[in-house]
Amino acid sequence: MTMNFIETRGNDGSHPEKVSFSEAILSPLCSFGGIYSPEKLPELGEAFLTEHLDADYKQLAKAILMRFEIDIEESVIDQALSLYDAFDDAKNPAPIVKVEDDLYVSELYHGPTRAFKDMALQPFGVILSDLAQKRNENYLVLAATSGDTGPAALETFKNKANVKVACLYPDGGTSDVQRLQMVTEDADNLKVIGIHGDFDDAQSALKTLLASENFKKRLNEKHTFLSAANSVNFGRIIFQIIYHVHSYLELLRQKAISMGEKIYLNVPSGNFGNALGGYYALKMGLPVKKILIASNKNNVLTDFINEGSYDLRSRSVIATSSPAMDILKSSNVERILFDLFGYQRTRELMQQLDQEKHYQIHADELSTLQEFFAADYCDDEQGKQYIQTTFRNGYLMDPHTATCFRAYDNCRSEALKTVVYSTAEWTKFSPTIANALTGEIDTHDIDALKSISHEAELPIPEPISALFEKEIVQKTVIDKENIEQEVLDFI
Ligand SMILES: *Cc1c(COP(=O)(O)O)cnc(C)c1O
Repeated sequence: MTMNFIETRGNDGSHPEKVSFSEAILSPLCSFGGIYSPEKLPELGEAFLTEHLDADYKQLAKAILMRFEIDIEESVIDQALSLYDAFDDAKNPAPIVKVEDDLYVSELYHGPTRAFKDMALQPFGVILSDLAQKRNENYLVLAATSGDTGPAALETFKNKANVKVACLYPDGGTSDVQRLQMVTEDADNLKVIGIHGDFDDAQSALKTLLASENFKKRLNEKHTFLSAANSVNFGRIIFQIIYHVHSYLELLRQKAISMGEKIYLNVPSGNFGNALGGYYALKMGLPVKKILIASNKNNVLTDFINEGSYDLRSRSVIATSSPAMDILKSSNVERILFDLFGYQRTRELMQQLDQEKHYQIHADELSTLQEFFAADYCDDEQGKQYIQTTFRNGYLMDPHTATCFRAYDNCRSEALKTVVYSTAEWTKFSPTIANALTGEIDTHDIDALKSISHEAELPIPEPISALFEKEIVQKTVIDKENIEQEVLDFI
């Protein structure tokens, strides 16, 4: 028996109504522009938790994946999970630290690129490449990145068979560390392209490319299919359920809670993949009171969860110091709508969003949504304050993590233990942190890294300091009109 995946906007007659996990991850888009969601979720109640109290991360991950009954061979799952061995602590790649009162931070950034994208992309890379090899097919993963997805996607697919990655980034629009992580990646199957423009330009260039008939034709000639490594791909989401269960088990092991006690999950959100993983964990039986959704000034999710209105009409993306959350069209909200309200309503709402740039859910739908979620947002100045005061209390955190502290202060109706997800190491957004700690303004990451290192009496981690010495091998920086040719030349 394998678990099937179904379409969030219903079926248009030209796509299969149900697909397997491997089909859903190889081609994630389906009828009416929808995405695949699991047909049912396995049950992970207290019996499961008790049984896995002593499981290390990989054992837990394997047990959860097996319950999903995905059509991936066990040996491939083992190989995928073995990538966690390269995290700082192989037994516990996502450690939890008590920071204050009820607030515990789960650090999701202990992988190779020092941001939480590694938690899912590392094992995902093994699975996608294995499927491509077994089918004797070639896949091209196209990514437009503002910073964290690019390095993580390149790192996971580096030298993997039958997969190529072309990654577009805005030249001058990422941090130095993020850019260096990309342009020093040396492998024949990776192409990194800087474009003149901002992240929106990179993203719209990618959309133009995907819509180009010439491009599709040329890909066909080369027997190459397109896949996606963003979180519309369920292959990423499945790995993002696991760490929420792990967090709960860690709190049990630390004797911070007792079995069955409810907790809050507090998630810095952009595309809602992390939060969706928490929602599924809750639905599967994890004792979670609510998921607290933290945003920055791009607070479309705050309004949606508090008022039921998803409104893009008067918004454009605001650049903030938590850039990985500078997102207005949060793709995985669709899977929540689907799970709560069904495919017809989801199709209606998503089409309204596409056509009218807004939708409003009914009062009864809003109260259903609020059974699971609460939300608040944190602007850059408030975030800076949280970084500063929390540092004085002995904990160093990045600006994405900091947005959660406001939701912690404002969204809890009960004094329950709360897991804040930390999605990036301090090294990735160092100028903002150095500014919060000392008031200095750095234009280069290296200066900020040195001063944080001094203030916090922490060494700059070797993989980060080494970046500044590495040779730059990916030198392409072009106008967006030339991207199609550049990508075709590459494949
Ligand atoms: C991607 C990312 C987020 C947002 O996560 P979603 O799953 O897209 O909501 C938050 N913080 C950092 C550092 C990220 O890289």
